[in-house]
Amino acid sequence: MPTLPRRHFVAATAALALPGCAVTTARTPPPSSSCLAPVKASPDRVIRTAAGLRPYRPGGFVVRADALGAKRLVHNYGHGGAGITMSWGTSKLAVDMGIAGFRGAAAVIGAGVMGLSTARLLQEAGFAVTIYAKALPPETTSNIAGGQFHPYSLYRDDRVTPEWRRQFSAALDYSWRRFQIMIGDDYGVRWLTTYAEGTREAPILPTFPPAARQLGPDEHPFPVERLWRYDTIYVETGRYLNRMQRDFQTAGGRIVVREFAAPAEIGELPETLVFNCTGLGSHGLFGDTELVPIRGQLAMLIPQPEIDYAFTGEAGYMFPRPDGIVLGGSYERNIWEAEVEPERIARIVASHRALFAGFRCPA
Ligand SMILES: Cc1cc2nc3c(=O)[nH]c(=O)nc-3n(C[C@H](O)[C@H](O)[C@H](O)COP(=O)(O)OP(=O)(O)OC[C@H]3O[C@@H](n4cnc5c(N)ncnc54)[C@H](O)[C@@H]3O)c2cc1C
Repeated sequence: MPTLPRRHFVAATAALALPGCAVTTARTPPPSSSCLAPVKASPDRVIRTAAGLRPYRPGGFVVRADALGAKRLVHNYGHGGAGITMSWGTSKLAVDMGIAGFRGAAAVIGAGVMGLSTARLLQEAGFAVTIYAKALPPETTSNIAGGQFHPYSLYRDDRVTPEWRRQFSAALDYSWRRFQIMIGDDYGVRWLTTYAEGTREAPILPTFPPAARQLGPDEHPFPVERLWRYDTIYVETGRYLNRMQRDFQTAGGRIVVREFAAPAEIGELPETLVFNCTGLGSHGLFGDTELVPIRGQLAMLIPQPEIDYAFTGEAGYMFPRPDGIVLGGSYERNIWEAEVEPERIARIVASHRALFAGFRCPA
């Protein structure tokens, strides 16, 4: 497993306004009993598997305005293992950067979570938008994501600048508040109590992660030495992206399936404001060699509606969703093939099986 960027404290700046949305967080209470229902992790309960490539940059995501001939080109890519988390926030930064002093129609390249969020924010600001993309949901990396709201595997602490950290804090804060007002079955967004192996991390925002607490051994059933608990938001990515695409089209948005081989082809588009939301595609299209894939593989188990908590730790991660229990935890750096390896899936299922077999109910 490659060394991953560690999670860290970053002071929050509520720089981006979210009209009508309070900064305070409403959350569901943690499960009343410390004896949780175990996940039935076994090979015969696997209903599908998936592999995806996280678009990772040690120096963090890119939100920057460039000129492309007479066009304004705004980049919004490179979100590693946190693209769902950061989607509304970096898209908001990108849109604010792009529309300043601009009139006319806008183009968005890419129809993953970043392209769709950028396109919706442009529509909310009153612009006519066309999305151009090589692939649409469900064939995007965004559809593979487990959907936990947490800025994990996003950057390396020693590679980011103070200016980037400011963008990060502002974007995370906006995303956090935006997802809170999308809770419900329509978008497949919900709160869950999360049990994380290890020592409680420092807050990343004053409001995130909320309700965080180190647990004593008699407060949980997990067979691990140290565990802490917090609440966060989970996104059922298939349902969410489907709904986002529908929102975009209902608001008059146009979608064109098209692949771009070089920036010059983008230069031929009729729109003079263009947003680059191509994720890992920016490696080839814009020659960003800092952008590397970190492959992740997932096993989906038969849904268990009684599982109302999530887990992250040495065994991997478990996010319960209506479309299946997501088991993951592989971070394979610089592997360019989004292919499932049966041995890796077997290991992911086995590590979770051992975890849940070790469940004990505290007295
Ligand atoms: C296994 C796994 C688990 C994950 N779990 C989480 C999680 O729990 N929480 C979280 O926040 N994030 C998670 N992520 C990360 C998240 O999936 C990504 O950061 C996010 O999907 C990136 O979104 P995007 O829109 O930038 O890219 P994509 O979803 O890849 O979309 C890119 C779009 O650009 C198009 N495109 C690319 N190149 C071109 C081109 N040349 N011409 C035209 N179109 C082009 C594509 O067709 C696509 O439409 C996970 C990722 C993986 C793989």
